[in-house]
Amino acid sequence: MERTLSIVKPDGVEKNVIGEVISRFEKSGLNIIALKRVKLTKSDAEGFYTVHKERPFFGSLTDFMSRGPVVVMVLEGEDAISKVREIMGATNPQEAAEGTIRKDFASNIEENTVHGSDSPESADFEINYFFNALEIGG
Ligand code: ADP
Ligand code: MG
Repeated sequence: MERTLSIVKPDGVEKNVIGEVISRFEKSGLNIIALKRVKLTKSDAEGFYTVHKERPFFGSLTDFMSRGPVVVMVLEGEDAISKVREIMGATNPQEAAEGTIRKDFASNIEENTVHGSDSPESADFEINYFFNALEIGG
């Protein structure tokens, strides 16, 4: 069993595809063990994406991630991290495979609808960034 963090990004909330994203995860057999809708401040977004702070798109990315509400969730299941990455599709929707969330809903490489942790270490950091022990599982 593995856990991962996913986010329906501000463009996904604006496009009204929260349920669609969640449904695709559930259909793959993953279980949602924590879930909430929050509005990040610029500083919250900077803290979450701290690994990207030297990247040229950091300012724009953190503006985007703090412009409207997001839905954050913890997903649990076998190979949850790679499963979520596969369902999401490539970062750039133009390179994303048919049937993936980003292929179907993303606007561009930045506004790409969904986030998923990329390793057990980042999943651990990201889950703890948004949720405390009381909010997970149950
Ligand atoms: P992923 O979300 O697929 O793991 P990265 O970790 O590389 O992708 O990047 C984090 C997020 O930063 C992306 O999901 C996207 O929103 C944004 N991003 C990545 N590359 C670019 C880029 N070249 N220009 C603008 N935004 C980008
Ligand atoms: Mg990433």
